[in-house]
Amino acid sequence: MASERQSPTDAESAATPETDAGDGTPRDLDELGFAPSEGWNAVYVDGEWRAQGDRSGLDVVDPTRRAAVGTVPAGTDEDVDAAYAAAESAQEAWADRTPEERASVVADARELVAAYHDEFAHLFAVECGGARLKAEIELDLTKATMAVAEDVADAADPTDTDEYDSNVEGKRNLVFREPAGVVGVISPWNFPLYLSMRAVAPALALGNAVVLKPSTHTAIVGGLALASLFEEAGLPDGVLNVVTGEGSAIGETVAGHPAASVVSFTGSTEVGRKVGATAAEELSLPALELGGNNAHVVTADADLDRAVDGGVFGSFTHQGQECISINRHLVHESLYDEYVERLAERAANLPVGDPREEGVLVGPVQNESQFETITDLVERSVERGAKVEAGGEFDDWFVEPTVLSGVTNDMPIAAEEHFGPVAPVIPFADDDEAIELANDTEYGLSGSVHCENTDRAIDIARRLDTGMVHVNDQPLNDEPHVAFGGVNASGVGRYNGEWIVDELTETRWISVQEETREYPY
Ligand code: NAD
Repeated sequence: MASERQSPTDAESAATPETDAGDGTPRDLDELGFAPSEGWNAVYVDGEWRAQGDRSGLDVVDPTRRAAVGTVPAGTDEDVDAAYAAAESAQEAWADRTPEERASVVADARELVAAYHDEFAHLFAVECGGARLKAEIELDLTKATMAVAEDVADAADPTDTDEYDSNVEGKRNLVFREPAGVVGVISPWNFPLYLSMRAVAPALALGNAVVLKPSTHTAIVGGLALASLFEEAGLPDGVLNVVTGEGSAIGETVAGHPAASVVSFTGSTEVGRKVGATAAEELSLPALELGGNNAHVVTADADLDRAVDGGVFGSFTHQGQECISINRHLVHESLYDEYVERLAERAANLPVGDPREEGVLVGPVQNESQFETITDLVERSVERGAKVEAGGEFDDWFVEPTVLSGVTNDMPIAAEEHFGPVAPVIPFADDDEAIELANDTEYGLSGSVHCENTDRAIDIARRLDTGMVHVNDQPLNDEPHVAFGGVNASGVGRYNGEWIVDELTETRWISVQEETREYPY
C-alpha cells in the first residue's frame, strides 16, 4: 500500500526550521554535528568559511515540502579564482607529505562519515528527498570509495620508480607518477556525497589539491559537508576548497581555469560536452561521467522472478534518479505480458511518501525541472500509444512508480534519459533484436542481461555497446574498487580503484645515460 503522503508546507512556514526531527536529529541544518560553527551559508576557501556577505543567496530546498530550509552563497568568479589560487599554493606541500600521511587524513574523514551516519541520512532526506535505503547505499559507497583512495595513495610516490629497458645502449629508463596538480570537480545532485567524494578522496590521497563545485540542488551534502569533514580530519588549509554556485554562472570558470590540470565532471551529457570542450581549451584533462539510457534485457529463458526483482530495484531506487538506473526494460515477447503484469503489481505496492518516514522507498523527485521533464516524457509517450499499467499519477514533485507497456524504442520515454521512477517495457523477438534495440541510443553506460545460460548471457553482454553490463542482475551497480564508466555519449575516462589513478596523476619519464652515447654526428 502506498503510504499517506505528507502535504507540502509553503515556503513561508518552512522557513522557520523545526529544531528536532523527532529522533534527536536536529532539523536546522546548521545544528548538524558536522556543520561548521559559522553555519552553511559560506563558501570554503583557503581553510576559511567565507560568509555570503554581498553575494546573492541560493535556497537549499527540501523537495518533499518544496520549501527552502536554508541558504548558501551564490559563489562568484572571484571566489573560484581565490579557490584555485589557494589550491595552487597549498598543493606542493601537500604532495610532499608521505602517502601514509595523506591516506591517514582521508581515513580520519571516513571515520567521521561513519560517526555522523544518522545525521547524513537525515540530510539526504532533507536535501535530496532520499529514502533511508538510499542513504544507506550512498553512505556505504562513500566510505568504500574513501577506503579505496587510501589504498591507492602510494601510486603517486615520485620516489617509487619503475625501471624499463632502453633501446639505447648504456641508458636506464625511470618512470614514475606524480599528482596531476590541481583538480576541479563539478558534481551532480543525485548521489551528491558519493559522487563528489569518488573524485575528491582519490585526488587528495594522491597529493592533489581540489576545487569542488557541487550542484546547486545539493550544495551542502555534495559540497560544503566535504569541506567540513576534511577540515575536522586535519586537511591543511587550501588543499580542498568548495565554492557553491549556479553552473550557468561559475561553471565555465571552474571548468576552464588555467590552474586546473584535471577537470572531473559528473552530470548530464549536454553540460559535460561543454565542460569537456572548455577544459580541453585550457589543455586540462576532462574526466567525464555522463548520462545513460540503460537497458535491462530479459531473454526467453530468463528466471522471471529474478528478472522482475532486478527490474523493480533498478527502476525505482531513489526514484530512478541514477545514471545507471534502468531506462528501458527489453523483454522477450514470450514473457512480455507476465513480466509487465508482475512489474506493475510490484510498482503499485511500493511505499511512496516523505523519505523521513520509516519504510518509505520512493520519495519526491529532486526538483521542479526533473518533475516537469519526467511528466512530459510520460505524457508524450502515452499520446503515442504507451499504456499506463501502474502509477501515472504526478503531483507536487511526487511521481508514482510508473510502468508503461506497448512502448517502442523511439517513444520519448525510451529514446531519452528519463531519470525518473518510470519503467517502459519494450518487447523483442530474438537476441539480435534485443541487442539492436539496446544499442540504439547515443549513450553507453550500464546495462543488464537475464539469461539462464551464462555463456550466452556474457556473449550478449559483450555485444552491448556500454561500459558496464551485469548478468542476472540489474544495471545499478558500483563497486569503488572496480572500473566504472561509460562509452560514447556516456563519458570519457574511468573512475574507481587503480583506474582513477590514471586520471589524477601525471606519468613522467627520466632516462639516465650511464655510458657515453655515440651520436650519428
Ligand atoms: P547537470 O549536468 O545539470 O549538472 C551537473 C553539474 O554541472 C552541477 O554541479 C551543475 O551546477 C553544473 N553545471 C551546470 N551547467 C554548467 C556549465 N555550463 N558549466 C559547468 N558546470 C555546469 O546534471 P544533474 O542534473 O546535476 O545530474 C543528472 C545527470 O547526471 C544525468 O544525466 C545523469 O545521468 C548524470 N550522472 C552521471 C553519472 C555517471 O557516473 N555517469 C552519475 C550521476 C549522474
